[in-house]
Amino acid sequence: MKVFEKSFTQQESIPEQGIAAAIEVMRSGRLHRYNTLPDEKSETDLLELEFADYQGVPYCLACSSGGYALHVAMRAAGVQAGDKVLCNAFTLAPVPGAIHNSGAVPVLVDVADDYCIDLDDLESKADASGAKYLMLSHMRGHLADMDRIMAICERFGLFLIEDCAHTMGASWNGRKSGTFGDVACFSAQTYKHINSGEGGFLTTRHPEVMARAIMHSGSYMLFERHFSAPPPETFEQIRYQTPNYSGRMDNLRAAILRPQIADLDSQCERWNQRYRLIEQTLADCASVSIPARPEAEHFVGSSIQFSLPQFNVEQIQAVVERCAERGVVLKWFGDAVPRDYTSRYDSWRYIQEMPQLPKTEQILSTLLDMRIPLTFSEQDCTLIAEIIVEVAAEVAEESQP
Ligand SMILES: *Cc1c(COP(=O)(O)O)cnc(C)c1O
Repeated sequence: MKVFEKSFTQQESIPEQGIAAAIEVMRSGRLHRYNTLPDEKSETDLLELEFADYQGVPYCLACSSGGYALHVAMRAAGVQAGDKVLCNAFTLAPVPGAIHNSGAVPVLVDVADDYCIDLDDLESKADASGAKYLMLSHMRGHLADMDRIMAICERFGLFLIEDCAHTMGASWNGRKSGTFGDVACFSAQTYKHINSGEGGFLTTRHPEVMARAIMHSGSYMLFERHFSAPPPETFEQIRYQTPNYSGRMDNLRAAILRPQIADLDSQCERWNQRYRLIEQTLADCASVSIPARPEAEHFVGSSIQFSLPQFNVEQIQAVVERCAERGVVLKWFGDAVPRDYTSRYDSWRYIQEMPQLPKTEQILSTLLDMRIPLTFSEQDCTLIAEIIVEVAAEVAEESQP
């Protein structure tokens, strides 16, 4: 019997260049981003400039986490207590959590068969709710039709915040994910596309939004020391009105991240090689359904999602358990009990006026998810997919009358 033995949570080591730079920062003792010599750019400043350049946007703020970036994005956009924010029902807990943290109320939008936000439901909820903000989570790296998203935002005057935690390095029709919205947020947490343990970015092209985000992040009155930022005049109006929600990036983590930004595109290619191998092998299995991905979407296959549409709850549970026994860790987004990093929308019980979303529940009820760490070789990926195919076939066969 085939068994897989590596860990699904083991990442690659930090590039040697990053380790050397981190040691240099520690030797200097100047870990705080504003602890600079005159005219010196700290590691954090350089990281912001490099990521802004990578994205092709004017402004970037490095901060303490992706969830923090989402929270600050809403505050900087002017979200007020009680405001409604449209967001995917199929996402991870930090997204509705960030909306709650900003005092706003999430309006959950259905998932579609392609695992993206359901654009018809988005349209009708934008209309019915009167919400002025859309927090669009590119959940598990799936990019919805961005042309239609932009048309919907235009039509309803929605301020778009992109949650790019799973699309750092991805693009739609050659345009980078995170450059469509008014603001974009990224994560540098260990399980995302770059790894500093914790960390995040906020990018935008709006000078005022950026000025507020910098002040919120805990700049005190040191905002003039930001290089990927609007001119000091922009801060004149807002400096008295913008609370400090301390959540800065530090130079140690920035030092670790800089070489990873430089390597990002080649790392994304390595993810996609692994993704394609798994996808090809799973395609041989009659029970497995993987939605075709649009031509326009250049995604990053750091995880894979697939459905077993003919399987009932017991069969899905059997697949997850037997794969686990053979070393293959699958996550089930349909589980009524939140586990590990997955939780179904109805477990976020702090949301007032929780909607019923039968379509989302139906799609999530057979949706499985698997991480693809770069510590897996291509042979590992083929083996993993073969195990899934064997287990799915076994469970399907046992259920024959
Ligand atoms: C990880 C994640 C976040 C938040 O990132 P943290 O850095 O862990 O706070 C936001 N959205 C999604 C979809 C994520 O997976």
